[in-house]
Amino acid sequence: MAVDTSTVPDVAPELLRWPIEPQQGGWYTAAEHAALARVIEESDDWRTGWRQAAYLVRFEEAFAAYCGAGHAAGFNSGGTALEMVLRALELEAGDEVVSCAVNFVGPHVAVVGQGGRLVLAEPDPTTLGLDPADTEQRLTARTRAILLTHWNGAVADVARFVELAARCPHPVHGPPKVIVDAARACGGRTPSGARVGAEGWATVFSFESKKLMTTLGQGGMVTTRDPALDERLRLLRGYGGLGESWGTNQMLSKAQAAVGLVQLGRLDEMNAARIARAHARTRALADVAELTLPPTWEEGRHLYYRHNLLVPNAWAGAGRDELMHVLAERYGVGSIISDPVTPHSKTLIRRHTAGQDVPRAERLAARLLCPVFHPRISDADEAAICDAIRRAVADVARTHPTI
Ligand SMILES: *Cc1c(COP(=O)(O)O)cnc(C)c1O
Repeated sequence: MAVDTSTVPDVAPELLRWPIEPQQGGWYTAAEHAALARVIEESDDWRTGWRQAAYLVRFEEAFAAYCGAGHAAGFNSGGTALEMVLRALELEAGDEVVSCAVNFVGPHVAVVGQGGRLVLAEPDPTTLGLDPADTEQRLTARTRAILLTHWNGAVADVARFVELAARCPHPVHGPPKVIVDAARACGGRTPSGARVGAEGWATVFSFESKKLMTTLGQGGMVTTRDPALDERLRLLRGYGGLGESWGTNQMLSKAQAAVGLVQLGRLDEMNAARIARAHARTRALADVAELTLPPTWEEGRHLYYRHNLLVPNAWAGAGRDELMHVLAERYGVGSIISDPVTPHSKTLIRRHTAGQDVPRAERLAARLLCPVFHPRISDADEAAICDAIRRAVADVARTHPTI
């Protein structure tokens, strides 16, 4: 597999008027500040300190109820949560996990970390999320799980993957588990109208700083309807309980839970602002013939964690890179490729997927760029960014014919 070395524009960050990506996802109001102040105050008691668990229980119950899932278990990050869900599968050598090649590296690192064989699959050309038809072809008698990412906020049809899995049972373990990475889709809805987190065996959320809601910059959650999985996860994150099973400490703190409760209450409103801003940007760029824009979906089907653009096929690779450079150097607009094909972004994944072929993923990732996007960018700045994208495309079109 050729290594795509292009990453971000080679421009000093201080020369960018707008950064390559926002470091904030969900934003805080006086309510989050007050909740945090209260928790600090309450924890100044030698009897209870920071250990009092009621906040975590309340946050987990509220999160499970919001998602329409039976259970929710807090973790200190989405990454550790993914790792523990995969650990709960108790993979044996040769067991396979199918996942989309265009992805954040976190889910793939978790598969490799738990000894699974990572099977890369192709993305859907519209959403760049896992393609069900391609997934079906990659299921074998060794498949233990389908690891489905709601990529950049575009919510996948989880029920469809559950059906696929049911048709291809593992001889010992039954149908492969559908594990959903919803780090970029908290609060979204699937085509059946269910809240993200309600369908599939396990759904993993992240509350890292950039995510749609955040618990002081780090945090995670797993929702499931399987009480046995929930119990197992609680043992894994808490030193195996009082029993003899293995576990470590991956707890979400009291302060994070207190702030998370407030963020959860504001999630729909924050997502609505993000969706409105994304649809407005899509409308503003609608007549730029060279760009393929993200689909305009309503009803929480797309949360626009990023507003990703695809350049024409003829610009794949070099033309896309030039567009990112022009955007940065001439107009001060940062952008990133989120995400490249994971074997390109990490040698560990490359080593573990040698010989696998995902030509559609390679092609789409080479056409992808995500200019800086956030609902809190001022209207004037947003207009300037849209104008810059339009001009930069015209600049590149002068040197790169599209046919
Ligand atoms: C952020 C993210 C994760 C990992 O979350 P952390 O809490 O940062 O460990 C996993 N998958 C995707 C798709 C993400 O965007």
